[in-house]
Amino acid sequence: MKLILLGAPGAGKGTQAEILSRELQIPTISTGNILRAAIKDGTPVGLQAKAFIEAGALVPDSVIMGIIEERLAKDDCKNGYILDGVPRTIPQAEAMEKQGIEIDTALSIEVDDEVIIARMSGRRTCKNCSQTFHVVSNPPKQEGICDFCGGELTIRADDAPETVKARLETYHRETEPLKAFYAERGKLATVENQPTIDATTTVIKNTLGI
Ligand code: AMP
Repeated sequence: MKLILLGAPGAGKGTQAEILSRELQIPTISTGNILRAAIKDGTPVGLQAKAFIEAGALVPDSVIMGIIEERLAKDDCKNGYILDGVPRTIPQAEAMEKQGIEIDTALSIEVDDEVIIARMSGRRTCKNCSQTFHVVSNPPKQEGICDFCGGELTIRADDAPETVKARLETYHRETEPLKAFYAERGKLATVENQPTIDATTTVIKNTLGI
């Protein structure tokens, strides 16, 4: 299974990617997580990406393509992968095609902007392993502590309301056109956001036939 998850920031791509990843035993590749780790480690990629992320803008396509090429070359991607947050622009999708990166399905999780804005204020992210939780819909067992690695849960700097609005604008302008791009190739599937994480997973699995 070679899957792309499309959807606005906060649509639940990361959450659903982790669930599918565990069930299908294939890795999730999240460019957002890779970039945040690079920023934390102070690598050259991190230094390039920092200002863009903080402004809710997109990191240049050239940086992203370098990351993707390197990550997909690893052995664990041989049996498939889930791409979370990439491609994010038509040029990225075109570059992926040129590089021969194969995709079975681009699955878009559809959520209204108002729901996203309300949802992002409750999101908490593990400083250590990037796992996400939500104070209402997906709380950790112990407040402020990651269930998976015991790391500290924080609010991502770019989850601040003003930045979320900028990220939503960027999504509609740059990323949403990818739906037409993959529809033209007969690879688009869409699912409506459901009231719970489990219900959304069920709809996704039915849509993918898994
Ligand atoms: P995410 O965790 O997917 O919401 O990504 C957080 C931020 O990282 C985005 O707002 C962008 O600034 C940057 N980013 C992640 N993936 C990409 C991508 N494929 N292209 C450009 N920028 C990206």
